[in-house]
Amino acid sequence: LKSNKITKGDRREESCFRKKTSMRFRIPHSEFRIYTMSIINVAIDGPAGAGKSTISRAAAKEMGYIYIDTGALYRTVGLNAMRKGADVNDPESVVATITDDLKVELRFIDGEQRMFLNGEDVSSAIRTPEASMAASRVSAVPAVRKYLFDLQKNLAKSSNCIMDGRDIGTVVLPRANVKIFLTASVEVRAKRRYDEYIA
Ligand code: C5P
Repeated sequence: LKSNKITKGDRREESCFRKKTSMRFRIPHSEFRIYTMSIINVAIDGPAGAGKSTISRAAAKEMGYIYIDTGALYRTVGLNAMRKGADVNDPESVVATITDDLKVELRFIDGEQRMFLNGEDVSSAIRTPEASMAASRVSAVPAVRKYLFDLQKNLAKSSNCIMDGRDIGTVVLPRANVKIFLTASVEVRAKRRYDEYIA
């Protein structure tokens, strides 16, 4: 329940909710709106190796939400850049790989997120150390962040979801219903990454 004059910020907020589910009524000098949210977004932010994906996956399963691993999106863009022979350390070279026909898709098969690059299932190919390094490099390029920002926003609009990764709570879903910043000691984070690579 919220009393307000309608501001730009409110309009932005309103667009986060489905129009059909917002009710507005007036009493003298105030306006109230009741929002019944049909879509719930949970944002989990924090440094690499803190356990964001482990917790997000388990919580999503428990709650019947979809889990969106945003790192996999960056890995897919990184893999695409590698495959196209781009120099991932050169932003211009990376930007040249974000072409109109680039198709980065996320599909859910048996409840599990799978990544598709131009129709090919690359869910395993993006887990190599090279793809991880490429993801890290391309993620520093603003055009890549912008490209994936829109994709992430649209995904969050369409389903109850738990989304994890850098910038999720601050930039991608600043108005998420629940925001968590998850961290862990450097030792634990390093061990988690090491275990992932040797698995
Ligand atoms: O989490 P994961 O290791 O799969 O992420 C791969 C890389 O993608 C990270 O190193 C990070 O640089 C980038 N990333 C990002 N923003 C996100 C998720 C991942 O910049 N929301």
